[in-house]
Amino acid sequence: MASLGDYAPERVVEVIEGILKSGHGLPPRVFVETTDQSSVAISITDAKANILYANQAFQKVTGYAPEDVLGRNESLLSFRTTPREVYERMWTNLSEHKPWTGRLINRRKDGSRYLAELTISPILDDAGENIYFVGIHRDVTEVHQLQQQVGSQKALIETTINLAPVATVVLDGGLKVLLDNLEYKKLHSLFHGKEPARVVLNSLFSREGGLPEVPASGFVEQEFVVERGGGPVRWFSCSGTWFDENDPSADSFFEPRRRSYLLLVMEDITPHKRRAEEQRISALRTLLAEGELSQSLRETINGAIYQLQGPVNMIEAALNMLTRRGSKDPSALIGVLREAHRAGEEALARLQSSLPSEPQESAAPLNLNEILRDVLSVSTASLLSAGVAVEWRPASVLPAIPGRATALRTMFKQLIDNALAAMRRARSPVRDLRVITEAAADGVRVLIEDTGPGIPEELRHKVFEPFFTTARPAGRNAGMGLALVQEVVTRHAGTVRIDPSYEQGCRFEVFFSANPREIE
Ligand code: FAD
Repeated sequence: MASLGDYAPERVVEVIEGILKSGHGLPPRVFVETTDQSSVAISITDAKANILYANQAFQKVTGYAPEDVLGRNESLLSFRTTPREVYERMWTNLSEHKPWTGRLINRRKDGSRYLAELTISPILDDAGENIYFVGIHRDVTEVHQLQQQVGSQKALIETTINLAPVATVVLDGGLKVLLDNLEYKKLHSLFHGKEPARVVLNSLFSREGGLPEVPASGFVEQEFVVERGGGPVRWFSCSGTWFDENDPSADSFFEPRRRSYLLLVMEDITPHKRRAEEQRISALRTLLAEGELSQSLRETINGAIYQLQGPVNMIEAALNMLTRRGSKDPSALIGVLREAHRAGEEALARLQSSLPSEPQESAAPLNLNEILRDVLSVSTASLLSAGVAVEWRPASVLPAIPGRATALRTMFKQLIDNALAAMRRARSPVRDLRVITEAAADGVRVLIEDTGPGIPEELRHKVFEPFFTTARPAGRNAGMGLALVQEVVTRHAGTVRIDPSYEQGCRFEVFFSANPREIE
């Protein structure tokens, strides 16, 4: 048989009220037996809270047998530490004929203290006056302690997670956010209001038309980059761990079920990445500077060979003529000329042997955006100091180009250095440098535009010849830069030209095929 303790307090009151008021002849014994079997303490009082009836559970909870309390006021249960306002609110409610539920600190017969959860319902007579109160209460000391413990453990976990310096979030199996910390909340603006965890997981484990498929074994230190239009890039190292918990819902009372949750941790590694990138650019700067040095040495020596080859050839020609004519007194002159020719050949051979060797580099598929980004990073300081405004317009997607990275970096740096030097020489008031990449038919086109004086039409072919320069006075090794550009481009089976339609300065257009027949 169901006992009254199985019902909610309001329902119990309804039942009792029904019995008290009923004229249906239900014997009071039935009522007493029913309430006595209840596991909650039930008492009925008069309108002044004097106890008229108490069930057996009342004794279990309070220690008072019914005969101890009959005729006494409920206040005998008070431990005298419940704040006055609680009682005042209680009595205000009751005097308005409304039920009241709350927690009071009670005292048992043995003097011990417990926390009582009490519901009092007024029972009115036909004239609407209070005649009885039904009080139902139970000892909730342990429940309260458990609630407090759970509450403080939750607060402790939340505080710890909140204070963690890395973005942390717990997601359910459907990847809905259940718990997150301050660092994670801060990411929302970076992800333009989208759920950061979803963006990251979609990008790392995307699946056609469904939720991302996060591996059951989780994942460790996967890098994720957030590119912000124009703003600095941010890098995150992301790790995910699945963990299980018993399903606490009533559904799994008889058949315990486990629920899976994903703990996602996103560590901002931008400073570390920036340092590594700075070191890489600095190493690249050194590499390019060394390349430039040996290149300029090669140019100087080649220049000297070129200059010396002329007189040596002339001496050789004179010597041949004298020998053929059978000069009257050739011996002395021929001897001198032979000596001069030998010395000249020796000097040429020495110069040839002192030419620095060309760096050996193997070809690999390259993204020209990365190559150009490197070159711009290396050139940033000199561009800034010359007051040049750089506009970098990379294509969002580019096919890979087979090529030699250092040779291509050196070549593009040469074009940028040339643009910078031209704008400086002409004292251009507006100094703009635009570097553009475009995906062209089966290849990549790179445009490098400046606002310098430009190159006159009649010189546009000559500038690619060795030792040709428009710089006056010609600087050290002048005239070899564009020859080098031409050489590198040709070796990559590409083309380079000066765009005749560009009038604001000079525009070099370089094209590389994504599938060249072969590159040298
Ligand atoms: P006070 O609140 O100062 O009141 C003095 C007396 O007047 C008490 O007899 C009080 O009951 C009565 N009284 C006060 N206001 C009114 C009013 N507006 N109308 C009618 N009578 C009023 N208290 C507990 O601490 N623990 C309990 O478990 C508990 N159970 C209760 C169960 C029922 C069914 C009822 C009706 C009340 C219960 N009370 C309980 C309240 C209790 O009656 C006292 O109000 C409370 O203990 C404060 O005690 P006090 O000596 O400071 O009395």
